[in-house]
Formats: sequence, C-alpha cells, structure tokens
Amino acid sequence: MRNVVIVLSIMSKTNKYCYMCNKEGISKEHVPPRCFFPEKKDIRPSEDYRKNLITVPSCEEHNSGKSDDDSYLLAVITAHYQNNPLSKRHYSKKIKRALTKDKGLQGVIVNNFKSIKINGKEFFAIETDHERIINQFKKIGLALYYHEKKKKWTGTVRAFTPNILWKNNSVNSQLQDLAEFVDSGIQYMTKEGENEDVFYYLKYFDEKSNGAFFKLVFFKGFEAWIDLR
Ligand SMILES: [Zn+2]
Repeated sequence: MRNVVIVLSIMSKTNKYCYMCNKEGISKEHVPPRCFFPEKKDIRPSEDYRKNLITVPSCEEHNSGKSDDDSYLLAVITAHYQNNPLSKRHYSKKIKRALTKDKGLQGVIVNNFKSIKINGKEFFAIETDHERIINQFKKIGLALYYHEKKKKWTGTVRAFTPNILWKNNSVNSQLQDLAEFVDSGIQYMTKEGENEDVFYYLKYFDEKSNGAFFKLVFFKGFEAWIDLR
C-alpha cells in the first residue's frame, strides 16, 4: 500500500513542473495570456471569449502576467490592420487602459508611430522590439507543446511572424517563402481553440523527432509560426 502512495505523489508532482523550467509550477500561465481575451465589461452581453482557456503550470519567473510583456505583445498584435473588428474594439478599450496606466508602455508604442507607404498606400506603423515579441511567441509555443504533450520541449525553438515587416527586405522575402511553405502544409494540420475570434492554432506533430509545428492566429489576422524540432 505504501508503495502505491509514493508512486501517486511522484506522478502528481511531475505534472506540476513549470512548462519552461524545472521549478515547481506554483501558478497557472494562460496560453496565450489571459489579457488577450476580452473581459465581459468590454463586450456585448451575448458574447463570451473566455471559453475553456488553455492553462499550463508555471513558476513565478515564467508567468508572463508578472511582466508587461503580455500587454506589449497584445498592443502590437491588435494594431495589425488585417485583424477582425473584435481586435479593433479590444484595441480601443483594453489597450487604451493599459497605455494610460503604464507610462513605459506608452513610450514604447505611442512614440513609435510612423507613417509608411506600402505599394503606394499609406499605413501607420509602429517600430517594434522584435526580440521581445519573438521571445513571447516562443513561450506560447513551448506552453502549447506542454499542453498538448504533457511534457516539456527541450530542443530548439524558432518563432516567426509574417506580419511584422523588417527593415531588411531580404528577410521579408524569406518570410514570404516560408508563408507559402506553411500554407502548403495546412492540409496536414488540425485546428484547436474554442475562442477563434481571439485565438486559434493549427498543430502538426512530427512522430520521428517528437517535434511540433504550430501556426498561431490572433483575431483572425495576425499570425505567428512556431517550429519545435
Ligand atoms: Zn519556470
């Protein structure tokens, strides 16, 4: 009897490790961060964008809610011009509140607005901290892997987004090539996510390497691709 008890306690402990490190998971990390999903007060009474949100165990350090990184990423994503109307509503309410509260974030986002021309059309663009954004996408990829496989991914993680233009045009054309490659693989991927107006993802698992590929779609517009292998 005693042996059985010991085995059970080890198993429950294993499930409580942080999705990113070997520390104990003392809090829940929402994937993507909870602030992405509009609160009741910001939406119509008939709407609900918080159905079965995904969570993984997280240590203090790897919980993005403990930093400004999640609101920074949300501000960048919701500023994307191809998103759905919900994104624009979310941007006007939630982000405005965050910007008013956090002067640092205000400096990063608002002061970086620039007018640019793409194919003769004028757009407002924000200059982004690319590394900060890519690191957030990597964390989301690792958390989704943990959620799907119930274990940590310890190999290489790469993240890309086709929706942030680089100053270097050769990187942009490489991203275009990658976009075509991702689109050609969609038939092999399965879709997940119950609040697809805010977030859904397509997944593909490579049986040989145990790796995975995730295509993340925010507000039916902004995309990020996570390659684990
Ligand atoms: Zn951790």
